[in-house]
Amino acid sequence: MISLVIPVYNEVELLGALIPRVINVFESLGSDYEVIFVDDGSTDGSLQNLVEFRATNHHIKVITLSRNFGHQSALTAGLEYANGEYVALMDCDLQDPPELLVEMYDKLKTGDYDVITGYRKERNERAGRKILTKLFHRIFSRTSGLTEIEHTGHFSMMTRQALQALLSMKEKTRYLPGLRSFLGFRQGQVEYVRQERAAGDSKMKIGHLFKLAGDALFAFSKFPLRFCLYLGLFGIVLFLLAGIYVLVSKMLGWAPIGWSSTMISIYFLGSIQLLFMGVLGEYIFRIYKESQNRPLYFIKKIYDSVNE
Ligand code: UDP
Ligand code: MG
Repeated sequence: MISLVIPVYNEVELLGALIPRVINVFESLGSDYEVIFVDDGSTDGSLQNLVEFRATNHHIKVITLSRNFGHQSALTAGLEYANGEYVALMDCDLQDPPELLVEMYDKLKTGDYDVITGYRKERNERAGRKILTKLFHRIFSRTSGLTEIEHTGHFSMMTRQALQALLSMKEKTRYLPGLRSFLGFRQGQVEYVRQERAAGDSKMKIGHLFKLAGDALFAFSKFPLRFCLYLGLFGIVLFLLAGIYVLVSKMLGWAPIGWSSTMISIYFLGSIQLLFMGVLGEYIFRIYKESQNRPLYFIKKIYDSVNE
């Protein structure tokens, strides 16, 4: 069986276009399948719509969460529920063509791969977002050492063995493409052109994207700590030289040295310390979140053959 997990947050205008396309793909494959929609606390009738689709095709299963938990948690909920021997993940905005699942499945079936990701050879998306995403991927792949992730996102399919490894990583702040890349195994790619969202606005506000980028950087690299270390080293060198200058001036009788240099040192040292404390705070917050060990999501109801 193949499972496909799709998180849904207020996407009612897209489901009508998405579901027939997905079903077509699976019917053409001829294997048993399940399409698991995770309703992440939608308020626009998406759930109603999904349940209606389920009535027409029982391969469609619906999990509703108790509120909006976010993209990463919704995906995790679906992955933990999935039963397939192969499991795929996809967003529901048709930025990634469902037809590509066939190619992914064929590649996995050869037995030469454990994970197949969609490689975006081009992106037809809005310029601002494109630049920011590109910048993030550049920094992320350089600092984390997970280079294969540069042109990939969530769109992917993997074997049950790889999925089990993925789900064994229980961290609370999750960045699934990073975790997937961290897995290792034999990872392959299929190329495609990523499209603009088929309808509606992105459900990931720009602030969410920055948060996700921060989570990824903090979880997979020492970059924030390194950055502080280098800035601190730079400060030491600078102020060592400045200190020598002050002493020499004193000895040569050039003192008193002016107000500007004093103020600049105070500002510089003050802000550098605040920055460092902020970075340390981020780490402490993350440690705290892990130690609270709260579940990533709560399920309200599952619509499948067992629960109906
Ligand atoms: N999504 C979700 N919960 C959220 C935000 C988004 O389940 O809190 C879903 C959304 O419905 C979509 C996917 O996650 O299927 C990706 O969201 P979106 O396309 O808005 O993100 P982008 O592609 O702009 O990063
Ligand atoms: Mg999208």
